[in-house]
Amino acid sequence: MVNKVDHIGIAVNNLEESIKLYVDILGLELHGTETVEEQKVKVAFLPVGDTEIELLEATTPDSPIAKFIEAKGQGVQHIAFKVDNIEEALEEMRAKGVRLIDEKPRYGAGGARIAFLHPKSTNGVLIELCEKK
Ligand code: ZN
Repeated sequence: MVNKVDHIGIAVNNLEESIKLYVDILGLELHGTETVEEQKVKVAFLPVGDTEIELLEATTPDSPIAKFIEAKGQGVQHIAFKVDNIEEALEEMRAKGVRLIDEKPRYGAGGARIAFLHPKSTNGVLIELCEKK
């Protein structure tokens, strides 16, 4: 069902500064930035091999990213697995008794269809399923 780690989401205070870190220190390339209003985040993508680093900065104080940083500080926030069919994947999760944050897929950055599983069901890891065309 899951065929690769699509990206790793990292919560940061300042997108510009964090981009610099990954570009200057690790030599990654910035692939673009985007604001996702629905999720109250500004996102930067930095591909690395077959996967991507996704840096996330809150755009409002009530953004999930702002809340995450308030509770835990900056750092890895979620891991996203790529699936071919997100409806089927969610159905399978439901059948396996996994608690879902998103009962239905919603749109994430880059037009991907995404859904989060509840960390209480996944030993504390926020898992995103994502379907990209
Ligand atoms: Zn993500």
